[in-house]
Amino acid sequence: MTHSSALEAANTFEELNLAPELLSAVAEMGYVTPTPIQREAIPLVLAGRDLLAQAQTGTGKTAAFTLPLLHKMCPHANTSTSPARHPVRALVLAPTRELAIQVYDNVAAYAKNLPLRSTVVFGGVNMKEQEAILRAGVEVLVATPGRLLDHAGNKTTLLNQVQFLVLDEADRMLDMGFLPDLKRILDLLPAKRQTLLFSATFNDEITRLANSFLRDPLKVEVARKNTATELVEQVAHKVAEDDKIDALLRVVKLRELSQALVFTRTKIAADKLCRRLQKRGVEAAAIHGDKAQVDRLLALEGFKQGKIKLLVATDIAARGIDIVELPCVFNYELPYSPEDYVHRIGRTGRAGASGLAVSLVSPEEDKLLAGVERFINRKLEITPLPSPPAPVPVAVPAPVPVPPLARPEADKVDAVPVARGRRAKEPVCALFLPPVRTGPDGGAPE
Ligand code: AMP
Repeated sequence: MTHSSALEAANTFEELNLAPELLSAVAEMGYVTPTPIQREAIPLVLAGRDLLAQAQTGTGKTAAFTLPLLHKMCPHANTSTSPARHPVRALVLAPTRELAIQVYDNVAAYAKNLPLRSTVVFGGVNMKEQEAILRAGVEVLVATPGRLLDHAGNKTTLLNQVQFLVLDEADRMLDMGFLPDLKRILDLLPAKRQTLLFSATFNDEITRLANSFLRDPLKVEVARKNTATELVEQVAHKVAEDDKIDALLRVVKLRELSQALVFTRTKIAADKLCRRLQKRGVEAAAIHGDKAQVDRLLALEGFKQGKIKLLVATDIAARGIDIVELPCVFNYELPYSPEDYVHRIGRTGRAGASGLAVSLVSPEEDKLLAGVERFINRKLEITPLPSPPAPVPVAVPAPVPVPPLARPEADKVDAVPVARGRRAKEPVCALFLPPVRTGPDGGAPE
């Protein structure tokens, strides 16, 4: 089932034979060359094959399915105002609102030069606005499963002309218990369709899903199985639970990080950390499933605009967060599921940029760390927390010359100004961070 021969095929988007309207949109996005998943998947989707694709977020997977689907829909592009001329032809299912919005933003950007309509529907917001858009007709519908079923139940949208189905982040959809919803949605779609399943990780459950939903699929893989992305520098510091917030701020300061995404395991921990950061004057926001949709979007927007410096997130809420050049991800708490570690660090170092993932590991988390290491098949190097730069000696004025008679030896000494007495100024970070606590071996704090 594995397919790899297409990999060498195309080095440019032109060579992928995409419609000129798509090529110009891609050029406007600033893309020069297709990413590996795009090189491999686009020709197969254009050829009409079902696909089982293993690709993490950050690999360019959204364009890998969106571009060929838009290309295939080109013959149907039209400017008619009749809803009947704009049936849903491509349905993209995503596990979270954030990912759905992210995918939709991509679809809208790639389709900007084509008279093809698209929209996104997700729960937690009023249905009325979504209904109006759906009734007017859209060719590409991006949706979270629950809200799609609501609309389908109300007959606001018909899915009987869907030709293309994409399951994005299928592993996460299963984790979130969407299987029954997916089955109900599948029952509403024509049996004759092209189905593309994207998943960051593969396991037996995904294989079962693929076997029941896909038709003779080709498998494409761009990352080695369950391997953490190699572009990301991965660092771990041993820190007592109570010292984590200081460690976080210290690393941010000393590495001069403009922004970072900070992961906690639970919503409560995310809120607590966010409050503590805000109390310390840090521009922080929290994003998790209990937050109102509007607050999540505001936090995300603030982060994208650089107003929020530290965005604290739980694993599920972080799905779909795509910040170009996100410099760093913190594992403030290691995840219970090692797969989430891979998802988390995939948020930095996106599409060719290098990134940094810092894990703050308390002694209670040693077992979780071991699980992560087994999963990514490598040891994470435990390094001491970075120390503040050595104090720079403060230049003091040269000593006032002493009359030769009073100190006869003075004229034999070279006239080098000597720093003395006064202590050099502490670096700024040390003013609000407690000193590094030294472990029993004189190393990093335990
Ligand atoms: P994705 O994996 O789809 O979430 O994409 C991750 C990021 O890569 C997004 O910000 C895309 O805009 C960007 N991207 C996708 N394809 C390319 C490409 N061929 N060249 C440069 N950036 C890309």
